[in-house]
Amino acid sequence: MRLILLGAPGAGKGTVAKMLTDIDGSVQISTGDILRAAVKEGTELGKEAQGYMERGELVPDSLIMGIMEERLQQDDCKQGFLLDGFPRTIPQAEELDKLLDRLGITLDGVVNLNVPREVILDRLTTRRTCEDCGAIYNVKSNPPKVEGVCDKCGGKVVQRADETEEAISKRLDVFNEQTAPLVGYYEKKGMLWDINATSSDEVVKIIKEKLGIA
Ligand code: AMP
Repeated sequence: MRLILLGAPGAGKGTVAKMLTDIDGSVQISTGDILRAAVKEGTELGKEAQGYMERGELVPDSLIMGIMEERLQQDDCKQGFLLDGFPRTIPQAEELDKLLDRLGITLDGVVNLNVPREVILDRLTTRRTCEDCGAIYNVKSNPPKVEGVCDKCGGKVVQRADETEEAISKRLDVFNEQTAPLVGYYEKKGMLWDINATSSDEVVKIIKEKLGIA
């Protein structure tokens, strides 16, 4: 499957993407995960991105397009991919259209995950993430078996630096201003699947039905 997952921070894009990868071997491409790995490794990309990320702002489009151009041409994307956190602005969506045209790739659809703001705020403040493999936990509903240790890889489970109250509020503002217009962009193209995303299991069920793999 080849899908874009749209939605506010905390809407469940990463969780849904991980559930979908188990179905047919499509890969999750999370620009946030790629950037966090670059920051951790201290690469040039990481050094450029870090300040923007910690402030809850978007990293410049040019950096993101460079990452995606390279990533989409890697072999594991042939099986399919789930774009999680990209595109995030209209210019990124326009550049993605051109890139997919050049690569001869067609998307199946664009999933818009709709979640009420109070659910988002609660999820983000209680979310914890594995520093090593990106696995997602929640201190209330899905804690790791051993506190602070990832069930899957043994990595350290932490609260992300951009999940302080201040950065969360900034990220939600940035989402409303810069990313929400993508809903209209893909709706006009007839590609949008608008889904109530309070339950990730339900979202996956609907996506499978739409793709005819229920
Ligand atoms: P995420 O894990 O998707 O919430 O992304 C975390 C942070 O990485 C964002 O707040 C941005 O600073 C940066 N980021 C991730 N994806 C993008 C993107 N497509 N465009 C610009 N910045 C991004």
